[in-house]
Amino acid sequence: MRERLSFKLNHLGNEARYDLSGSILDLRSAKTPLRFSFIYPAVGKSGCVVKLFKVLQTNMCENNCRYCAIRKDRNIPRLYFKPKELASIFMEYYRRGEVQGLFLSSAVFKSPDRSQEMIIETLRILRREFNYRGYIHAKILPGVSYELIEETAKWADRLSINLEAPSGDYLIRLSEDKNWYELYKRLKLVSEVTRKFNLRAGAITQLVVGPANENDRDILRLTEHLYRGLKLSRVYYSGFTPIIDTPLENVPPTSWWREVRLYQADMLVKKYGFRHDELPFDKNGNLPYGVDPKLGWALKHPELFPVEINRAPYEMLIRVPGIGRVGARRILEYRKVHRFRYPEELRTLGINAKRALNFITIDGKAYFTPRLIAYSL
Ligand code: SF4
Repeated sequence: MRERLSFKLNHLGNEARYDLSGSILDLRSAKTPLRFSFIYPAVGKSGCVVKLFKVLQTNMCENNCRYCAIRKDRNIPRLYFKPKELASIFMEYYRRGEVQGLFLSSAVFKSPDRSQEMIIETLRILRREFNYRGYIHAKILPGVSYELIEETAKWADRLSINLEAPSGDYLIRLSEDKNWYELYKRLKLVSEVTRKFNLRAGAITQLVVGPANENDRDILRLTEHLYRGLKLSRVYYSGFTPIIDTPLENVPPTSWWREVRLYQADMLVKKYGFRHDELPFDKNGNLPYGVDPKLGWALKHPELFPVEINRAPYEMLIRVPGIGRVGARRILEYRKVHRFRYPEELRTLGINAKRALNFITIDGKAYFTPRLIAYSL
């Protein structure tokens, strides 16, 4: 019995890895190897790394998405957890302090509503019967009824539904079972519901990057809308990895660098006020791998630099390569009582002066370093 449970947990945990709980940049600090295939690092709002019990309710799926490891036509062991069984086993790990939260997803078993109801029942048992007050991230399944989105929100801290691709034209290359517009409608509702119920970790979505031949411009155009229009908390980018015995098994994997550049550009759109169409795309609409997007943008705009560090407003300071939002705030504080005269003053504020010096003057004096010419777009 125990062996069977452990077999299920390992399988359904391992198969849950395709749903991201942190970006590759967020998780750079999570170096500690985790003991079990169903425990994953995630990054909390404060930046601390927490361990999530991440698992599927079931891997029995009615659908055949071309990229998916648990698509209907793939020959793998099909398993499921009854709600009480899953809630109980999660609580064992939680009480022992091995995990700090739950991320529950599922394949589409019988129907989207049937599967969502199983998720809801597991969450209800956790909250009501086990009095669990900790973090829960619950997946909303494609095609689910609107009422069940609200019902799921009653028990969760974060909801997500994956758009998978930046538009319907791209999604059709990945799945004939999912309709992008239906996914988008539900994501919009998920966002509204998370705000209505004041869910502390908000709403997120995820895109599979690479196999639909979309470009970064298409992705980041959508990203801008998702943050500014739908008010999502995060957008995750899952670089494609081919899986044997799927229709996309011969499609090459997506470069790690593409994911890194997307996350850097995402940060510029989300936190630095960049519009997607300001980003330094190449002629194919992709971000170059060889230069980070903020530096790439600055190199394309020599007419805006250098800026005088003693006068530049916050909005311009955060666009200077090497100066982040924290650094810009420290500069403004410092300026209230001092006038910058030397590069060392920037270093004492924890600012990457080496890079920033190419784009600023200090008290009217330039400190450019010729090595920057090495970056080319
Ligand atoms: S619906 Fe989800 S689990 Fe099922 S095949 Fe598609 S991506 Fe995989």
